[in-house]
Amino acid sequence: MAAQETVEHKYVYDFAEGNKDLKDLLGGKGANLAEMTNLGLPVPPGFTITTEACKAYLATGEEPDGLADQIAAHLASLEQAMGKRLGDPQDPLLVSVRSGAKFSMPGMMETVLNVGLNDRSVQGLARQAGGSGDQAAAGGADRFAWDSYRRLIQMFGKTVCEVPGEEFEHALDDAKRAKGTRNDLDLDADDLRGLVDAYKRIFLKHTGREFPQEPREQLDLAIRAVFESWNAERAVVYRRQERIPADLGTAVNVVAMVFGNLGSDSGTGVAFTRDPASGAQGIYGDYLANAQGEDVVAGIRNTVPLQELEKLDKTSYDELLSYMARLEGHYKDLCDIEFTIERGKLWMLQTRVGKRTAAAAFVIAGQLVDEGLIDLDEALHRVNGAQLAQLMFPRFQLDHEFQPVAKGIGASPGAAVGKVVFTSARAVELAAEGEDVILVRRETNPDDLNGMIAAKGILTSRGGKTSHAAVVARGMGKTCVSGADELDINIPQRKFTVAGQTVTEGDVVSIDGTTGKVYLGEVPVMPSEVVQYFEGELDPEQTDDALVKAVHRIMSHADAARRLAVRTNADTAADAARARRFGAQGIGLCRTEHMFLGDRRELVERLILARDEKEREAALGALLPLQRADFVEIFREMDGLPVTVRLIDPPLHEFLPPLEQLAVNVAVAQERGEDVAQEEALLAAVRRMHEQNPMLGLRGVRLGLVIPGLFAMQVRAIVEAAVECAKSGVTPRPEIMVPLVGAVQELETVRAEAERIIAEVTREQPVEVLIGTMIEVPRAALTAGQIAEAAQFFSFGTNDLTQMGWGFSRDDVEGAFFWRYLELGIFGISPFESIDRDGVGRLVRIAAEEGRAARPELKLGVCGEHGGDPDSVHFFHEVGLDYVSCSPFRVPVARLEAGRAAVETDGSDSR
Ligand code: PEP
Ligand code: MG
Repeated sequence: MAAQETVEHKYVYDFAEGNKDLKDLLGGKGANLAEMTNLGLPVPPGFTITTEACKAYLATGEEPDGLADQIAAHLASLEQAMGKRLGDPQDPLLVSVRSGAKFSMPGMMETVLNVGLNDRSVQGLARQAGGSGDQAAAGGADRFAWDSYRRLIQMFGKTVCEVPGEEFEHALDDAKRAKGTRNDLDLDADDLRGLVDAYKRIFLKHTGREFPQEPREQLDLAIRAVFESWNAERAVVYRRQERIPADLGTAVNVVAMVFGNLGSDSGTGVAFTRDPASGAQGIYGDYLANAQGEDVVAGIRNTVPLQELEKLDKTSYDELLSYMARLEGHYKDLCDIEFTIERGKLWMLQTRVGKRTAAAAFVIAGQLVDEGLIDLDEALHRVNGAQLAQLMFPRFQLDHEFQPVAKGIGASPGAAVGKVVFTSARAVELAAEGEDVILVRRETNPDDLNGMIAAKGILTSRGGKTSHAAVVARGMGKTCVSGADELDINIPQRKFTVAGQTVTEGDVVSIDGTTGKVYLGEVPVMPSEVVQYFEGELDPEQTDDALVKAVHRIMSHADAARRLAVRTNADTAADAARARRFGAQGIGLCRTEHMFLGDRRELVERLILARDEKEREAALGALLPLQRADFVEIFREMDGLPVTVRLIDPPLHEFLPPLEQLAVNVAVAQERGEDVAQEEALLAAVRRMHEQNPMLGLRGVRLGLVIPGLFAMQVRAIVEAAVECAKSGVTPRPEIMVPLVGAVQELETVRAEAERIIAEVTREQPVEVLIGTMIEVPRAALTAGQIAEAAQFFSFGTNDLTQMGWGFSRDDVEGAFFWRYLELGIFGISPFESIDRDGVGRLVRIAAEEGRAARPELKLGVCGEHGGDPDSVHFFHEVGLDYVSCSPFRVPVARLEAGRAAVETDGSDSR
């Protein structure tokens, strides 16, 4: 049999062989160590074992063929570079073995330091460390060597052999107690020698074997442990939360140890090339003399600001500063750095593009443009809508120790403080007296609208991110925490209990709509300067607020780059006006059912329950002027911009009296012998209309086709308002939108009637009125080619499309079981929040393609909640929609993301 030819896989890279772009293979840490090595920075020599090797090991439970030999070869060159052998009894080379995945997973995986120490090499290390020969140094060197050895046994035991970490901690505490101290540094060499013996006994007890003395065996076992730590439970959970793919594997870095704990001329620190909190230029970091990295993390001693290093060791300080400038120029971004100084010699142990706050992200991107390091496209790429959204909400100043009493879902961001009220009416009353109130309900419904408008924030114990409270609050830009189920709310008694405390009406609470946390009492709040800028209250040219200047600059570039227009969802003139200040280019969804709440509800109820044409006509006649006035206000605010008005789409039950209540009233009245003929008739009508699944019932176009005159009244109100505006010099651009269409025949029927009314009303004053439809029923998406024959535009209702595409009731499922779906990783984020590209997104894609094929000039937009979600905006850009429409507060976010999508996918075309 012919020998099978095998090409040996390269599993190990010397630092000199890698570079920063090889993160898939070498992990972030390894790729950046290689990059620094190639830049000529002083990185301790070492090598990286690839993620491929890890994946192969995890698949089979064994090191892949060739790995052991490659490690041996790279270890040999490392030994040569250092002039020492691993674990040599006379002068040992020691190495660290560190994980390093493509994406940073802080603290999730394992590290073993000081590999190569054993009973003999510990002596050699002590001799070499005390090289100067003086007595004090020799004593210190002994201590250092034994301390390093006990650290190895501890880390190796815990990480590689699963010895419970507390056992080592207890032994260390015992040693300190015996010495009468609480400080590790008071333990001398003899104490530490004793501790090493104790640690070895612990190791033997738990593993049934002696601590391995063979250096290469230590190394191999440590590498294996790092591979295996990829699948440690905490790493798996972290990845799922952060949406990091599970199959990437980790690389392993084997690096020559350098020591910051060899005396006062040694130390360790971290440095940032700019302030990661504010983005300000300067030198930021911490330094700890005579210490190793873990000591900084453990907080055993207090660090000093990095600037102090200048006094302690000017040469190393200057050298560090020059490397920091070099790295920043090279990475063209904020870098964070870990370094160690060993007896006056600076070593760079790690660098990466550093994490930063949302404010710093904008400020730094702006600075880097000024410094000529990046262009504006790149600046746009470096920030994102989630960061902008964070900056648009007032924030709690949590410096004082405030402890949350409950945590719900952060349904609409912001920080709100106010007196607790339990009914919409009370909210309105107290707000009228000038009080800030928080409306607390189990869940809200459309009748709470006035209370929601009056309140500073809304807190519910049920519901999720797309329940009524959440969607309406987001629409208003109002803080909302929903589903805080630790709250036991008693509406009749006007109180709730939580964490053993009772909160009654008038008590003050603070709610954080970003984190979902609820606090008792008043937490101080700061307003957002970014909102002040969008509102036109802060002039970016005049202010010296670096954040506002940077946001202005990047937003202007996003607007110039983007292809998607951004509209808003608004039903009131006030919302329309604010959205316009925030940059909205029209209204993409005016939900007219929101105009029928409050006093007008009763008129709708009369309309729905009308027994004859006379009653119906009367109700419609009363509604027409009210509606017309609404539209006049909105067209005025949106002068010259398109306004999509959607014909009424209420789930019926929201406009009918509650069935149970009505039945009880009738029964009680009958009991008393009262005349209940009218109530009985009403009850019979409500019973007739009662639905098991109102979301799938008589709503949208179906209601318009069943109740004569309803849509006609609305169309007339829209067109009459447009004519009135046009006559007064305003330019109205109305677009009439039909909801819940599933078949072209439905749309054709409504359209025919609408066209008759438009022709009649615009006879003397021409106004162009478009007629289009929502695409929110899967059947509509799948028959979009036919529907486009009757529609001048499509607007995707991705809330209903998600509800009906997945069969998820949008008001129930998030609170009910999504936590489990998220936990199982069935999806990483609720499909109501971010578009499900593969399923619901596919329906959008099909409808866009088939709609445009049938009618090339068809306008396409989206008005579901996804229109303001950063990731979804990118998807809508890719699919080729003309606009997204979202709540006023998300308009700037959508503008920014539409710009980012354009520079990312269209490349140089957009510059
Ligand atoms: C939708 O379904 O996405 C939509 C915008 O309509 P509504 O949320 O009013 O049902
Ligand atoms: Mg809908």
